[in-house]
Amino acid sequence: MGYPEDMQVVDSLGRSLRALRVSVTDRCNFRCPYCMPRERFGDRHDFLDRSQILTFEEIERLVRLFVGLGVEKIRLTGGEPLLRQELPTLVARLRKIEGLRELTLTTNGTLLETLAQPLREAGLDRITVSLDSLDPARFLALSDSNIGLERVLAGLQAAQAAGFGPIKLNCVLQRGVNEADILPLAEFAREQGHILRFIEFMDVGTGNGWKLDRVVPAAEVVQVLATRWPLESFQRDCPNCVAQHFRYTDGQGDVGLIASVTEPFCQGCDRARLSAEGKLYTCLFASEGLDLRAFLRSEATDADLLAVVLNRWRRRDDRYSELRAENTHSGPRVEMFHIGG
Ligand code: SAM
Ligand code: SF4
Ligand code: SF4
Repeated sequence: MGYPEDMQVVDSLGRSLRALRVSVTDRCNFRCPYCMPRERFGDRHDFLDRSQILTFEEIERLVRLFVGLGVEKIRLTGGEPLLRQELPTLVARLRKIEGLRELTLTTNGTLLETLAQPLREAGLDRITVSLDSLDPARFLALSDSNIGLERVLAGLQAAQAAGFGPIKLNCVLQRGVNEADILPLAEFAREQGHILRFIEFMDVGTGNGWKLDRVVPAAEVVQVLATRWPLESFQRDCPNCVAQHFRYTDGQGDVGLIASVTEPFCQGCDRARLSAEGKLYTCLFASEGLDLRAFLRSEATDADLLAVVLNRWRRRDDRYSELRAENTHSGPRVEMFHIGG
């Protein structure tokens, strides 16, 4: 490939590049207010057109190069990734890349009923489904759509039947909005054998009305869970895990807490993000991405592309969440649905 195998790919704070999130579309069939508030992303919103988003060939080429740089995990995301036409074809192509340890997907679950089986057959390893409420009315409000909760529940069943188990469930909690879902979601996950993860509401993007007092701290969630089922913390065998892990002492599974706001984990952040139009972001809170599509659609060789990515990663000094309190800038910021969380 034109670069030494033992070459260290570390940023200016000593962090390796191990994971890449690949957004395959900026479109979504939900309008979750914390991500794509409808008043800003309504019917007239100018989404990317087909010629602007990376083709499967382009994604595959980039993923291959990133894996060559040490990336072990690829997560497909969006927007809603299952809206991308022929997604199983992309999965099958990426699965063949040597050295890729894990290929996963984050979805709102609404299209899983038909797509779980083809995705499994194409070689997808794991699925994470976002689910913020088990209350049908609250679910509709939280997704600001008319697609009912039953579609996601059917999608989860289809994913289990296709052999994706255990499935991760992601729940973003907001103060005064869905705290009442903590125990029902935990009970559901325990019964179904899913791994539930509670995520603190983050100030990503520019239009979700984030305020610190709307964050439900992870520590508080643990207390709520412990009122019903005793828990103990444990260490997972993953050095840069973003979640804190707890297991129920009755042996009924475990639960993860992602305390991105109250206990930031920038020190171990080994992720890059690729937007659907091919921009590389080195932080969720970045204002600008590096336009890799321009290189892909020029005469650039793989070696040229590698040099550009390496140069960007080596200069990386992002640690937004650790500096949040002192970071008062209100300039442009990438939106969550562009880079997929
Ligand atoms: N549409 C897919 C889904 O919802 O799973 C994938 C893309 S979505 C941007 C990825 C994840 O980001 C979801 O789990 C969502 O809940 C999370 N997310 C979006 N906005 C967030 C915010 N402001 N704070 C915390 N998590 C957020
Ligand atoms: Fe769509 Fe996912 Fe964003 Fe909700 S969180 S609007 S499902 S991209
Ligand atoms: Fe990584 Fe940026 Fe999040 Fe810190 S704030 S964990 S650097 S994405």
